[in-house]
Amino acid sequence: MLVLKCAACKKKLWRYDKIGPGELLRCHKARIDKIYACNKEADTISCRCGRQVGIDKGSYYKMITKNFTASGDKRRSPEKNKRQRHLQQHIKKGTERN
Ligand SMILES: [Zn+2]
Repeated sequence: MLVLKCAACKKKLWRYDKIGPGELLRCHKARIDKIYACNKEADTISCRCGRQVGIDKGSYYKMITKNFTASGDKRRSPEKNKRQRHLQQHIKKGTERN
């Protein structure tokens, strides 16, 4: 999985199942695994900060490569990262009562 982040503010945009090597020029909607934060207006998709990261082409987004960064694994062999789990911890702070 690749995690896409805004190049301007580094906010996570979405997680994408990239197959094969090469630059990420398109994001097929069917392979977007999880959306963290983005704004969609008409046929453009942008970060919450306003930076446009892609253009909606129907079944995929045409990506504006200079406006995002991607990190993580591209899929080459299946079932590679079993141990990578999505852990979420809510840490309560300042809510203790007697
Ligand atoms: Zn941003």
